Amino acid sequence: MASATVICAECGENEFTIHGRNRRDADYQAKKMEDRGWKCRDCQNKETAKENAAAGLPKLKGSEKQVTWAETIRARILPIVDVVIDQAGREDPDILYGAPGFGDVPKVREILRGVTQAQKDDLVAAIRAIDSAHEWIERRDTSIADLIKTVAERRVVETEINTEERKAELAAEREMRAEATIVPTEPKTASIAELSWDQFHTIMKISMPEKNETLRQLLKSRSWRWNDGLRSWVQGGFTVEVNKIRNMVDIARALLAEGIPVCILDEEVRSALVEGTAPEREWKTIRLRLKGRDEGWLVAEWPRFAGDFYDAFRRIKGSKYAAGKCIAPITSADEIADFARIHGFEISEAAQEAIEHYRELRSRGITMAVAKVEVMKPAPNKHKPDYIPLDDAEIDVDYELLDND
Ligand SMILES: [Zn+2]
Repeated sequence: MASATVICAECGENEFTIHGRNRRDADYQAKKMEDRGWKCRDCQNKETAKENAAAGLPKLKGSEKQVTWAETIRARILPIVDVVIDQAGREDPDILYGAPGFGDVPKVREILRGVTQAQKDDLVAAIRAIDSAHEWIERRDTSIADLIKTVAERRVVETEINTEERKAELAAEREMRAEATIVPTEPKTASIAELSWDQFHTIMKISMPEKNETLRQLLKSRSWRWNDGLRSWVQGGFTVEVNKIRNMVDIARALLAEGIPVCILDEEVRSALVEGTAPEREWKTIRLRLKGRDEGWLVAEWPRFAGDFYDAFRRIKGSKYAAGKCIAPITSADEIADFARIHGFEISEAAQEAIEHYRELRSRGITMAVAKVEVMKPAPNKHKPDYIPLDDAEIDVDYELLDND
């Protein structure tokens, strides 16, 4: 392998190394690129920015790096927008199969049904007027139909914003938010963290208009994850399912304790928080596995910040670590109950019932058909899990198989 260097035709500084099969090949390829006037990324970006300005596009707002990137995205997307809108207005579109925007044409035709030419022009102008580098970057992978739809909706909102009805609606929304906002005695920030559910009520979301390091640290320490699509911190899975209200109240309390105001639109959660009716959350739980290979076994779970109970749990006879979980057979019911009492684990109702049922059968001398208990030595330290994640959405998901209280 041989390599040759191509120098930027514009700045004469940045270079590109080309690898060829042999010397001749490398030199040939380098010459070809030079003849074509190869330009480095920086120079290409600058050129794109110049072209965008010449085309009458607004100057983008954002950091220098954001703007540079956004310029290239805008330069790529705008021509596709023009093509798609044009094609969507034709009886027989002649866009090539697979060309950029091809799949968007039918959707855009739907969106633009009944829209006048003046409105279409207005829409295109509104898209060209987007001057937030951030927005263009966000848009880099979304479809053209989505972009058009969003901007079309935004235009409608902007036109309607001035009507009396719309003003009243907005005022009502503001009032509702004000009512839903709880401010700590000593607020450390003016912005408000909004706590809400996703549409299926299975994921808790927290969003804040500005970046806040305290919030980030707190949520990370509690196994929350940032979700770029939802622009929110999220926590989902059974930890939310188990006791929804208590979970949301708990995180709201933690935020308030850090001096962060919270807005909670869910009235039930809010009144539980304000009136203190939601009990303190028990993070450490023992529950019954209802289905699957280990049906009838008891599962212990705890978040990292609650402590490390691995060794203690593994001293229970027959306990094992399987699929990311510490589990123990019902035949060790007494030991499990002791473990829960000593370490402050909450035993779910179903698990408690199972324990009692087992004890009763045992006292009557009835032998249960229990799965063969595998006696295992405690795992060596290197296999010891760092923590038992509360949110097991990413691990072998079996929370549906657990009891739900
Ligand atoms: Zn250059």
